[in-house]
Amino acid sequence: MDFTLSDQQDAVRDMARRYAVERLLPGIAEREEQVASGGPWPDLSRERAGLFELGFGGMLLPEDEGGLELDHLSFHLALVELSKVDPSMGQLLSNHNALGVGWMRHAEPRLKELWLPRLAAGQALASWVRMDDLQQPLQAVVTERGFELTGVKRMVTAGAIGDLLLANANLEGRRVVLALQAATEGVTLEREPLSLGLRGAGIGRVTFTQVQVDENARLDTRISGKGLMLVRATASLGWASVALGIMEGAADAARLYSAQREQFGRSINSFEALRFKLADMQWKIESTRGLALRAAAAADAGQPTEFARLADLARLAGADGAAFCGREGVQIHGGYGYSREYHAERFMRDARGMELVGGGVEGLREQIAARWIGEE
Ligand SMILES: Cc1cc2nc3c(=O)[nH]c(=O)nc-3n(C[C@H](O)[C@H](O)[C@H](O)COP(=O)(O)OP(=O)(O)OC[C@H]3O[C@@H](n4cnc5c(N)ncnc54)[C@H](O)[C@@H]3O)c2cc1C
Repeated sequence: MDFTLSDQQDAVRDMARRYAVERLLPGIAEREEQVASGGPWPDLSRERAGLFELGFGGMLLPEDEGGLELDHLSFHLALVELSKVDPSMGQLLSNHNALGVGWMRHAEPRLKELWLPRLAAGQALASWVRMDDLQQPLQAVVTERGFELTGVKRMVTAGAIGDLLLANANLEGRRVVLALQAATEGVTLEREPLSLGLRGAGIGRVTFTQVQVDENARLDTRISGKGLMLVRATASLGWASVALGIMEGAADAARLYSAQREQFGRSINSFEALRFKLADMQWKIESTRGLALRAAAAADAGQPTEFARLADLARLAGADGAAFCGREGVQIHGGYGYSREYHAERFMRDARGMELVGGGVEGLREQIAARWIGEE
């Protein structure tokens, strides 16, 4: 398999890298502090506007629908570069593109026309509100004009700041997906208590109190089996890419720190115990990257089943690898790693989130095993 980047893929990666370093990095510590202090939610409009100006609100969306029409490989590269610096922004954009725009492409024409240009241009941010199991919170019942939605979902990415909600609810034992504006009567978006990590991802609690949703807003009946597989696999690839960005960010910081820190008269990167950690970080990074690149290549070659399989494996490798690189990154920084003076502790906290997004790695492992055993 040849993963030589095309000029366009190279340009997208560079654009994301430059944006992350020049525009996201300078304010990151301040945004973290603001969230940690319980102050007003950081105003992300400038950062978001910049990203959306680059077209990152509609990365995979066809040009004639207002998007950039990038391939999956470019989507992956951009998310890695952003997440190397600011995993929260990577997570926001991953969900917005893969699940928000991904689902809205299947909406009825009037809704598509209303939302897709706004999502692509960044005038609206999408949030995916997922029911974790069928007994759980979000319940939809049929009404004369559509559906009534009731329930609460906690810890939702962009759940405190989203404009468009894609609610995955239980309708008489079946999962349905309903699209609705956050500013709808009966919908409340609240900030969650301080999260361990991904503090810039607008994590919030979404409450639906007898919310009336039009019958045209139901999306699951409009998507094919292949379409659904693509949306899910793209979400997995997005999370794998965010996780890979965290791994690279944490590992780079540790590698550079270990080169300049001296103890016992020599650089700490000359100690075997630390060198082993650097080696383990590196193979985990490269194996996650390999899986993610193969997943993206399968998507771009029109192989949805292989895409889904590899994207889930990449996501699992990424979640495990990010937790490892985050933890060992702090260890390599020693006591300083435990302070907020360095980025190491932030990467460690952000990394833990990647083991929980999208239903947690336990469910993901179940799914991977079931597919391999042939139960799916
Ligand atoms: C950073 C972050 C971002 C998130 N973003 C979103 C979002 O955008 N949208 C959204 O809807 N939700 C989001 N969530 C919520 C996330 O989907 C849930 O936290 C996750 O699915 C676990 O559900 P729970 O918290 O109810 O834990 P529980 O379901 O109570 O699970 C507790 C533990 O048991 C395990 N477990 C549960 N069921 C099983 C099972 N059947 N087999 C084996 N193990 C099991 C879980 O994996 C977990 O380890 C986010 C969470 C985090 C941390």
